Amino acid sequence: SYRKGGYHAVRIGDPFNAGRYIAQRKLGWGQFSTVWLAYDTQSSNYVALKIQKSATQFSQAALHEIEVLSAIADGDPSNTKCVVRLIDHFKHLGPNGQHQCMVLEFLGDSLLRLIRHNHYKGLHLNKVREICKCILIGLDYLHRELGLLHTDLKPENILLFSTIDPAKDPVNSGASPILSRPESNLNGGSTMNIIEKKLKRRAKKAVAKISGRRTTMGGTTEKPERNLDGVNVRCKVVDFGNACWAAKPFAEEIQTRQYRAPEVILRSGYSFSVDMWSFACTAFELATGDMLFAPKGSQTFCEDEDHLALMMELLGKMPRKIATGGARSKDLFDRHGDLKRIRRLKYWPMNRLLVDRYKFSEDDAREFSDFLCPLFDFAPEKRPTAQQCLQHPWINCTVSINVDMKNQGVATVEKLEVGVNNLHLKARK
Ligand code: ADP
Ligand code: MG
Repeated sequence: SYRKGGYHAVRIGDPFNAGRYIAQRKLGWGQFSTVWLAYDTQSSNYVALKIQKSATQFSQAALHEIEVLSAIADGDPSNTKCVVRLIDHFKHLGPNGQHQCMVLEFLGDSLLRLIRHNHYKGLHLNKVREICKCILIGLDYLHRELGLLHTDLKPENILLFSTIDPAKDPVNSGASPILSRPESNLNGGSTMNIIEKKLKRRAKKAVAKISGRRTTMGGTTEKPERNLDGVNVRCKVVDFGNACWAAKPFAEEIQTRQYRAPEVILRSGYSFSVDMWSFACTAFELATGDMLFAPKGSQTFCEDEDHLALMMELLGKMPRKIATGGARSKDLFDRHGDLKRIRRLKYWPMNRLLVDRYKFSEDDAREFSDFLCPLFDFAPEKRPTAQQCLQHPWINCTVSINVDMKNQGVATVEKLEVGVNNLHLKARK
């Protein structure tokens, strides 16, 4: 991919945009781009530098992404809407051609990495709630204020706020960022290795803190945090490479398979509610560690059919009108609205799944599925909007009150969580 029309090869210390940005280390990459941590010499901040492949189709895609990101930034001057912020953009000429570059605020690990780090066990429901709230604020902004569909919402495209401040890193303090190429460094770049190792360790620690997992560092095992409720988990929606204006959708097939809404499979047309479907899939995955729908094809049926079967096993039979109403319906459903090639379905509703497989308490399962299930309505127009979700009791239900009744002679109540349907008392005799 590092050839004409492809990625731009970057070395640590490389300058961009007439020396304003200095490359520090690689943060990630996608199909179309590599993303670098860079130091902004103008603002003295760290930023994420996304460098697109140079071929025409990639440049055009980048220009579309820049247009979308500019609209997002213009509509949110205070930068509070939980969507990644575009800081700057420019073109960079390299040996492989001309690359569109985007400068974005520097964020941390993706929710996918958080889920992996937690060994696919699922996060505490309070954390899921906080993350969901951020995503919903972002979606509400995109949908209602901008008329924009993300179309590729998934854990990988939601990044945590970086808890690492490279500028404040002790190894880096005083010495400042890397402003020169490693070969001009007497250590031959070893300073960078130390910083990188240190940053990695810190990143690991930060993720561990959020997921509440034990980590072994420097030979000693740190105890997991006893009370994680104080850690405010915040995140932002990223990757607007596939975003489109609701008024002019351009692709028929959108979304990553596991997060794809039924109307996209059936080619019945789509709107904002496709993001709500993907959001609900993401929320389930955060809470359980498992993808909700992971369809597989076989010799007798295709991936789409398995996907629809999995949906109906969880959500009940698709209404006949919806099942038969899409451009692809005839391939998949008979005229009664039954799948042609998968005949026997085993119904396993959401609240039972949460209790039986994921060992949720009955209360947690009921409250969480009350929140999720309406988002999985087969009728797209019946799904709640992001704005409506933000009003839902599950998003707002828990108020934590720390009460000290030590001298009341009864018990020491450490924390009181008041829910809508239940009351938890964590008491210590
Ligand atoms: P693509 O459109 O090529 O898929 P993305 O925008 O998804 O590119 O970015 C690719 C990867 O780069 C992400 O998965 C993430 O690891 C990293 N990344 C992207 N944006 C940022 C950012 N603002 N801060 C930190 N890392 C980022
Ligand atoms: Mg991506």
